Amino acid sequence: RVTPDLIVTYAEEFEKNYIRRLAIISELKKALASKHSELSISYQPKLNLHTNQVDHAEALIRWNSERLGFVPPDEFIAIAEQAGLINQVTEWVINAVVDDVAIMREQNIPLSVAINLSAKDIVDPHLLTYVTDKLKEFNLAADCLSFEITESDIVSEPTKAIVELQRFRDAGFSLAIDDFGTGYSSLTYLKSLPVTELKIDKSFVLKLNEQNSDQQIVQTILQLAKSFNLSVVAEGVEDNASLTLLRDWGCKWAQGYYICKPAPLVQLINWYTDNLAT
Ligand code: C2E
Ligand code: CA
Ligand code: CA
Ligand code: CA
Repeated sequence: RVTPDLIVTYAEEFEKNYIRRLAIISELKKALASKHSELSISYQPKLNLHTNQVDHAEALIRWNSERLGFVPPDEFIAIAEQAGLINQVTEWVINAVVDDVAIMREQNIPLSVAINLSAKDIVDPHLLTYVTDKLKEFNLAADCLSFEITESDIVSEPTKAIVELQRFRDAGFSLAIDDFGTGYSSLTYLKSLPVTELKIDKSFVLKLNEQNSDQQIVQTILQLAKSFNLSVVAEGVEDNASLTLLRDWGCKWAQGYYICKPAPLVQLINWYTDNLAT
């Protein structure tokens, strides 16, 4: 039964959410415009399970707002998409990541970095020019960067996505389908998508060692990827038992807290030189 109490609670909740959204939009605009930004990038390496080397890391945005405190990316990225700010956020990320790649190259660290894109990014005609110009400025090649796009973003407009993603491939960038297994993409799309990598969603990986159903799903994705000649990253690896299973099944790449948590550039470089540099 809908009681007056319930209506008040609902209205209060609605107002609270609305106010938070507005605050996020206005504070994010300020953060994007400011030079000493509240925004930063954390990096999480992808471990090659065949060689035990790392040659890639993923860039994950962080926002420590003076007024709102730490705002998780899942929350503010969705709001930025709706508010028409995502292209600015993505350009901020590209700018920061290319600066960091240049720093790594100076220190002879050959890591390439994967950047997360949203659906609105890939249809933005300027984004690709923005990236290639920024790379040119530093004399860096396209293989320094790659891009990740979620399966649900692709599934919402597959024909369009195929065309747009092909432009990134033509410019020399590798592409991964993120959160794979959650978006119900049909095999027809998978065949025609110009991507090079699948990232198995962490919901299938977090409890891999305990859940028989997850084991079957992950093995099925690995077989699928093999027949389509795609490389696979398992994300969300939190324990050694899951890592061992993935390695035994021939999964090439793994990412997760058990290997390394996302961390600022300086820590990534330290981790890399301590663990892997030969
Ligand atoms: P995602 O791209 O699927 O990133 C993986 C998320 O899982 C990250 O959360 C990462 O910190 C977390 N993670 C990594 N290893 C583990 C693990 O072992 N266990 C668990 N439980 N979690 C793990 P984060 O950094 O909070 O980012 C959340 C989402 O926000 C990302 O999901 C991505 O969709 C979005 N995002 C983050 N940075 C950016 C960005 O620069 N641009 C865009 N468009 N989206 C971003
Ligand atoms: Ca990702
Ligand atoms: Ca993911
Ligand atoms: Ca995700």
